[in-house]
Amino acid sequence: MTVPHDEHERSLAFAEIALDQIRALAEPATPRNFAIWYNYATGYHPALNRAVNETLKHKGALAEADLEQIYDTYIATSRVSDSVDTIGSRVLDEIKQVLAMIDAASGSSTSYSESLADASTKLANTNDRDTLRAVIEGLIEGTREMEVNNKKLEASLSASRQEIEQLQQNLAVVRTESQTDPLTALANRKFFDNTLAKAVAEAKAKGEPLSLLMADVDYFKLFNDKFGHQTGDQVLRLVAQSMKQNVKSQDIAARYGGEEFVIALPKTVLRSAITVADQIRRAVMAKELMKRSSGARLGRVTLSVGVALLRATDTPQSLIERADKCLYAAKRSGRNRVICETDPQAEQLADGRAAPAAKVA
Ligand code: GH3
Ligand code: MG
Ligand code: MG
Repeated sequence: MTVPHDEHERSLAFAEIALDQIRALAEPATPRNFAIWYNYATGYHPALNRAVNETLKHKGALAEADLEQIYDTYIATSRVSDSVDTIGSRVLDEIKQVLAMIDAASGSSTSYSESLADASTKLANTNDRDTLRAVIEGLIEGTREMEVNNKKLEASLSASRQEIEQLQQNLAVVRTESQTDPLTALANRKFFDNTLAKAVAEAKAKGEPLSLLMADVDYFKLFNDKFGHQTGDQVLRLVAQSMKQNVKSQDIAARYGGEEFVIALPKTVLRSAITVADQIRRAVMAKELMKRSSGARLGRVTLSVGVALLRATDTPQSLIERADKCLYAAKRSGRNRVICETDPQAEQLADGRAAPAAKVA
């Protein structure tokens, strides 16, 4: 494929801008970061540019978790929608083929019924043996042709059916991928946000409780710096596994950002949510980490968790914010603990006022 000269020049210019940004912000020059900055330079994804600009405005830099989230939200999902487009166009092709088959079949059945009508007229008007034989032979021939056509149609329809079933399966795989965090196999943030909105609406409509739990790995940056990113990733999988083992099928557990996790617990009162949170905290703390390659002991990691209960006036966002405030309080009061919002110390600590360490559950 030849690329027009000015397009070639333009793509090189975008690439240079992307590299300049990576250098200026001292980010690792990974394919993911390059993809983000290349897209940024093109300006083709205004939402990506807004997300980058907002984060830079507030934090002055893009942390690992920010880069990952921007990539997942604006670049990885467009890959998914490409796959959906491909599957969609194959489904359309398949439908066109089936329609063409139906057209052909209905054409041949029309001509068959015409030949039947013709035969019936001839039979009514003749007693001549030869003519009778010719009409009957014609009918037998026509019926055979019809039978052959029907067999062909059956075979083609069955092939199309298999193809469509295969496409349905492909679509289900793509849909699951688009909802899943690849590192931990938990739900991703986008899926969580959509599902939480529905769960909040349902809890309000039915007057049922809904609790939300926000968890963050303690001192994870130190752990990563000491043992490397890959071992850090192993820890994130371990946290995810501890979460999966302690929630029910109705609960929605997700990786919310870098080393931050969230669980929505429908039909669950605050006290039960605190119990779940503490079980997860204990499960994580109980695991002694080993380096896979050498078997060396790496110690343990701990989790801080904030828990909030849905109020009548809440939006999904305000519920998340209150759980996040509790998480912040858990961090400020010493980490490796669960704090819920009805704990008065949670409010005090989140406001930055001094208060003794509080550990709930
Ligand atoms: P705190 O106890 O206050 O939560 O401290 P922290 O070090 O855990 O928090 P901070 O937000 O400073 O650091 C989070 C670190 O998480 C930074 C980044 O290196 C790491 N991180 C984020 N996403 C990933 C990931 O996908 N894999 C790995 N290995 N590390 C990640
Ligand atoms: Mg942390
Ligand atoms: Mg964090």
